[in-house]
Amino acid sequence: MSAGHADGAGHGGAGHGGPTPGAHAIRDTGPASYSDGHAIYRPREERVVRGADLRGRVRMRADACVIGTGAGGAVVAKELAEGGMSVVMLEEGELLREDEFDARPRDAVPRYLRDGGQVFTVGNAPIALPLGRAVGGTTIMNSATCYRTPPALLARWGLWSAGELEPYFRRAERIFNVTQVPREIAGRNAQLMERGARALGWSGEYLHRASRGCIGSGVCAFGCPSGGKQHTGNTYVPRAWDAGAVTVTGARATRVLFDGDGGPGRGRRATGVRGRATGVLARTRGGARLRVDAPLVVVACGTVATPVLLRRSGVRHPALGRNLALHPATGVWAEHDEVVDMSAGVPQAYAVDEFAADGIMIEGWTGPPDMLALSAPVAGAEHRRLVTAWRHVAQAGMMIRDESRGRVLTAASRSVLRYDVTRADAAALVRGVALAAELELAAGAHTVHLGIRGAPPVRSVDQARALTATPIAPHRLALTAFHPLGTAAAGAVVDRDLMLAPGLMVADGSVVPSALGVNPQLTIMALAGRAAFRALGLPAPDDEPQSATVGRAPALAA
Ligand SMILES: Cc1cc2nc3c(=O)[nH]c(=O)nc-3n(C[C@H](O)[C@H](O)[C@H](O)COP(=O)(O)OP(=O)(O)OC[C@H]3O[C@@H](n4cnc5c(N)ncnc54)[C@H](O)[C@@H]3O)c2cc1C
Ligand code: SF4
Repeated sequence: MSAGHADGAGHGGAGHGGPTPGAHAIRDTGPASYSDGHAIYRPREERVVRGADLRGRVRMRADACVIGTGAGGAVVAKELAEGGMSVVMLEEGELLREDEFDARPRDAVPRYLRDGGQVFTVGNAPIALPLGRAVGGTTIMNSATCYRTPPALLARWGLWSAGELEPYFRRAERIFNVTQVPREIAGRNAQLMERGARALGWSGEYLHRASRGCIGSGVCAFGCPSGGKQHTGNTYVPRAWDAGAVTVTGARATRVLFDGDGGPGRGRRATGVRGRATGVLARTRGGARLRVDAPLVVVACGTVATPVLLRRSGVRHPALGRNLALHPATGVWAEHDEVVDMSAGVPQAYAVDEFAADGIMIEGWTGPPDMLALSAPVAGAEHRRLVTAWRHVAQAGMMIRDESRGRVLTAASRSVLRYDVTRADAAALVRGVALAAELELAAGAHTVHLGIRGAPPVRSVDQARALTATPIAPHRLALTAFHPLGTAAAGAVVDRDLMLAPGLMVADGSVVPSALGVNPQLTIMALAGRAAFRALGLPAPDDEPQSATVGRAPALAA
């Protein structure tokens, strides 16, 4: 068995597929490309080993073992496999195809959210943190919004120049087909945001998203039933299979192995790692003890799980698990006289970046009626009334580039997230809520409910602006966070090639040095792509075409 799978893990070696047709040309990313579903990527073969079917002791061998198939892991796996390495991907979640998504939140949440969606921070304001667990990681349930890293942040980090990352952004944008949402598919919720922004003279635009066949069904967070949303599970992972890689699903990595004693070391002072990484131990859903021998191990479990696995493996870096940034988010729920119908359109289709320099982004955020029922900040008869009036309700989300920093701790081999919202961040969140309310009022809303517990709805701009007059305690903010980052930061825990120790790479949100202020997947993908090319010893790809429309990089305060 083990030998068979070891062979199956690949002969890789397909090379990088030769120069891209139309190299250096402008890639057409017009409206047709956004909604044209004919080009959905189909692999020659789904090279999947179901961990649920494995029993006993199983051993595999590969040039690289990549743990996690989200925004970071899948990109590294595909690039390494196309570069000629045999690759085994270990993924705790399962492979889900578009025809398995029924758009019902109650079905989706327990299936592919970590801990059934019950991950929360511990601190002065409990923050819900949905994390994906499936082939594709959190990208399977994200909103597909794509922003490049703001150049001002790259300059501040001093690790990578914008020019150095340019080929990797272009490459990710091509594979993800990053394209601006056409107004017609965006939906009324987004059009109202646009109307409000225009009335106020605020900067905003229809977002650039990873799409190839979006029909505006409004359920991105619960799995895209059209397959139009491009996530790493339907783009990078199948390309990795085509280059010979194998994915073991339902396989939870429990430890990275090192040479010497194969366990925790006290040798190297900075990391606690002695020697080089040699492989990975995992438990499969079927109860098998799986061992993958590989001279390159890539940990890409996500910002929350990566520090836990590394600590279990004996890594004792003092900065590991610290520096947790979240982009805390909340929003407003606006009642309009006109029909909004959030079930039609792209949930996150429009953004206002007028206040990006202050770390505040307002982005569309809709979903099916179940979502309104769960999130509406009202109770009792008022809740009943608002949910019944659902077709007239619009939503706008907002997030901040947080200065607060938390920690991922480990208790009984599980993560515990400690995060306190600073006063300055609480004030920024309240300001963001007030601005989002003002936006909806300018768009024609008559009543705006706020993501602030106990705060009455606002009905005028003066009422909205008055919100910022008195400090609001963090615990009164109804917060969710979608973008955990920074717990194995480049420049602190890993180097700029994302290497932590010989043979050990980390490639996921944990390496992003600080909060970005914009949605992070493209940053993670570009850094992961670059790290893979560096591991292969290859120069950056110089044949990636620029897209016809590139999203604006919001300005950030210096
Ligand atoms: C609702 C929602 C909407 C979002 N919208 C956007 C958006 O529009 N744009 C954007 O840029 N970002 C968005 N994000 C965030 C974005 O999806 C994440 O930042 C990104 O996916 C993180 O990539 P990652 O590689 O760090 O981790 P993930 O994508 O989370 O992948 C980690 C993978 O590792 C697996 N894993 C963990 N531990 C183990 C283990 N021990 N063994 C094996 N496998 C393991 C997990 O199951 C998971 O599949 C959103 C997030 C959420 C929750
Ligand atoms: S709006 Fe619907 S069709 Fe479009 S990406 Fe989201 S889930 Fe898929």
